[in-house]
Amino acid sequence: MNHKDHWGKVAELKCCVCQGDANIHHCLGGSMIDWFGGENSPRGTRNNHWLVIPLCHRHHQGADGLHAFPSIREWESVFGSQVHHLLEVNNSLPYSLWDEAELPDPDGYAGPESYAFGRKAYSYEEYLKLIRGMRERG
Ligand SMILES: [Zn+2]
Ligand SMILES: [Zn+2]
Repeated sequence: MNHKDHWGKVAELKCCVCQGDANIHHCLGGSMIDWFGGENSPRGTRNNHWLVIPLCHRHHQGADGLHAFPSIREWESVFGSQVHHLLEVNNSLPYSLWDEAELPDPDGYAGPESYAFGRKAYSYEEYLKLIRGMRERG
């Protein structure tokens, strides 16, 4: 599937906060960093054209918008985490956006204590071990 077809499908879903008419938002920051790592990290959201959620103007750029709030984490604490909204979006689609993005299904997402690497979920300790192992091997 082409990611632009995916955008069309997501835009047809209603705003994940208020069920109003929506446009797509590319998920970034906040819970996305907890789960997927920094945007430029090797395990990060390099396929982030798949990681989009539907938001209406008000909850996107408007008065209660993710881009208008002082921080993304504050917005997420009021309106729900982007990772959570992505899980709901995925449930509304006839295909797996995680498969398309080649990223782990954050079913195991348990807040800032859980990490994704490749297509699996790890605890922070396990994740650190993995990263250190990779550094030692160069
Ligand atoms: Zn809305
Ligand atoms: Zn946006």
